Amino acid sequence: MDARIKPPMELDNAWWWQMADEGKLGIQRCLGCQTLRHPPRPMCGDCHSLEWDAVESSGRGVICSYTVLRHPQFPGYEYPLIIILVDLEEGTRVTSQLVGCEPQDVDFGLPVEMLIQEDPDGFKLPVFKLRSEI
Ligand SMILES: [Zn+2]
Repeated sequence: MDARIKPPMELDNAWWWQMADEGKLGIQRCLGCQTLRHPPRPMCGDCHSLEWDAVESSGRGVICSYTVLRHPQFPGYEYPLIIILVDLEEGTRVTSQLVGCEPQDVDFGLPVEMLIQEDPDGFKLPVFKLRSEI
């Protein structure tokens, strides 16, 4: 399989990919009002503070919404691709991929947990799988 196209890693988001490389799912936290936000961005939408740090998510949540992608197909992914919007335990949301699940088995409200998928070239990507132990 061809290598995955790498995301741009800039001042505002390189830290998130660094945490992923360390096996962690990062969430940006405003230092002004403690609001969590994702994806990473420079300013808090609630209090407009530019000060922030990052916390590590438990990686657990439930599927808020999903879609199954068949086209267009990009290199580095296996299709059909299940893309999910996850309500994390911490109270914010993240968009990711659901692995180890057939498209007909995905549904709203299912519990999921994060795992790190490592590509042959060493690139690490947080993805999710269904969580059965609840
Ligand atoms: Zn804030």
